[in-house]
Amino acid sequence: MTYVAESARYDGTMRYRRSGRSGLDLPLLSLGFWHNFGDDRPYCVQREIALRAFDLGITHFDLANNYGPPYGAAEINAGRLLREELAAYRDELIISTKAGWDMWPGPYGQGGGSRKYVLASLDQSLSRLGLDYVDIFYSHRFDPTTPLEETAAALDTAVRQGKALYVGISSYTAENSASIARILRELGTPLLIHQPSYSMLNRWIETEGLLDTAAEEGVGVIGFTALAQGLLTSKYLDGVPTGSRATQGKSFQTELLTAEMIERLRKLDALAARRGQTLAQLALAWALRDPRVTSLVIGASSTQQLEQNVATLDNLDLSADELAEIDALLDD
Ligand code: NDP
Repeated sequence: MTYVAESARYDGTMRYRRSGRSGLDLPLLSLGFWHNFGDDRPYCVQREIALRAFDLGITHFDLANNYGPPYGAAEINAGRLLREELAAYRDELIISTKAGWDMWPGPYGQGGGSRKYVLASLDQSLSRLGLDYVDIFYSHRFDPTTPLEETAAALDTAVRQGKALYVGISSYTAENSASIARILRELGTPLLIHQPSYSMLNRWIETEGLLDTAAEEGVGVIGFTALAQGLLTSKYLDGVPTGSRATQGKSFQTELLTAEMIERLRKLDALAARRGQTLAQLALAWALRDPRVTSLVIGASSTQQLEQNVATLDNLDLSADELAEIDALLDD
């Protein structure tokens, strides 16, 4: 049956924040396609999650050339969704993709920031997505072997060719972010956004100056893995459930699952419960507490998880006492 979007999709709990000094608003929660959208997941489940997200006001889907498995599959599956279900809603959607990690054989497909790799990768992404342009095109990682000027110029070219509306960077240090922001400004293509990791268990953007730099440069920040890939939810409090990310041998930081960590998570869970929230909701509210954080790109393996995560927005206020208690628990 042809999908018709929920007519009240912008009247619910979703809210939008401006990305830095740009004209673009992003939803506080964006949907990530790294896991859950590869060929290892049934397309019908992917469809259900993505369309539910759109119905909940999530207007931003985040991809990369290598999301799968196999590499490229998430873009192909997203392309099918965009073609079969969401074509009528293209102007309501912000689709991002990235280039930075290894993708194809030979010296030009190994990732990094060369003009050759970055622009060829974008063409491949557009072909898999079935789109003429993406809304945001990212340099997925800093490449110490390529001059920043070359990577910046490739991003600028993507915009000038009409293949991207905005450009972003991911996981660059504060210093490298400031450098590429300056180069891009001189080229006339302002840096829209930075995508760093950020969660209660990973606060480098606070301690290493990235949030300050982003604000100074007028660049938005969209944090990834705010749920620490599921660790900052209640799912691991009583052991490792079958089918969870931790059992799939995929990018989950199993070494973090210690008795001390579970104890800390239990205390955070209790604090969340006092607020009438789940641990996942507390972790998301906490990561959104600073207005310099434009959005969080979250993963969800079911619509239930997605709905629970979006319900976070019903209670984003954290008191000074609660923040101090969280700091104390994290330092413990
Ligand atoms: P998250 O921290 O968002 O973890 C998502 C996982 O947590 C889900 O797949 C699910 O795991 C579990 N989960 C989510 N909500 C709940 C809930 N309410 N209750 C219980 N469990 C829940 O990290 P991801 O690794 O998924 O990353 C999110 C996105 O960030 C990616 O899709 C990608 O777009 C982006 N990203 C970007 C990177 C970059 O370099 N720029 C790097 C990494 C990610 P389970 O499968 O166990 O159910």
